[in-house]
Amino acid sequence: MFISFEGADGVGKTTQLTLLADALTAAGVEVVVTREPGGTELGSDVRRLLLHGGHVDPRAEALLYAADRAHHVATLVRPALECGAVVLTDRYLDSSVAYQGAARSLGPHELRDLSLWATSGLLPDLTILLDADPDLASRRTQDRGEVDRVEREGAKFRAALREQFLTLAASEPERFTIVNAARSVDEVAEDVTSAVWGLLAS
Ligand code: C5P
Ligand code: MG
Repeated sequence: MFISFEGADGVGKTTQLTLLADALTAAGVEVVVTREPGGTELGSDVRRLLLHGGHVDPRAEALLYAADRAHHVATLVRPALECGAVVLTDRYLDSSVAYQGAARSLGPHELRDLSLWATSGLLPDLTILLDADPDLASRRTQDRGEVDRVEREGAKFRAALREQFLTLAASEPERFTIVNAARSVDEVAEDVTSAVWGLLAS
C-alpha cells in the first residue's frame, strides 16, 4: 500500500508521517518511510541542487523534481510495494502539481502528466492532505527556525499552493483525505490514523 503526505511547508507532514510509521510498526506492519525530493542517494544530490544550490530555472526545477521522482519510484517505492510493505512518502506528485504547476504557473495538467510519465503512472492508494491557513503554516516554519522558502515567495504563492492542493483533493476524493492541520498534533494524528486503518481494513 502506497500512502503520500501532502500540503504546504509547515503543516506537519513529517511529524504526522513519523507518528503513523511508529504506530504501524508497533502493530507489526512492515513500513518503508521515504520522502521527495531526496528519497534515494541520487535524490539526495538532486535535493541539494534544488534547495541549496543557486537559482534554478522553473522548468529545469520541474524536471529535476521529476527526475528525482522517476528514480525514487523505480528503485525504492515499487520494489518496496512489491515486497508487500506499506510505503509512506513525505510529498509525492501532488507537490509538483501544486508548487511547480500552480504556484510557479507551469500548468497543473502539464506537471501531472510529467509526473505520471516519470513514474509509469504510479498513484498513491491514499493521499493525506494536511490543510492549514498559510499564515499559520508559515508561523510554524519560522518557529522551527527554518528559512521559509515559501514565505519568501510571498502570500500569492502560498495562497495558490493551498488552493491547488484543495482542488486536487476535490478532483480525486477517493484518493484524498483532507485533514485539518490547524489543530494539535494529537488531534491531527487521530484523523490520520483513522483514515489509514480504514483503508488497511478494507
Ligand atoms: O517538505 P520538505 O521540507 O522536504 O520540502 C523541502 C522544500 O522543497 C520546501 O521548502 C518546499 O517548499 C520545496 N518544494 C518545492 N516543490 C516541490 C516539493 C518541495 O518547491 N515539488
Ligand atoms: Mg517536513
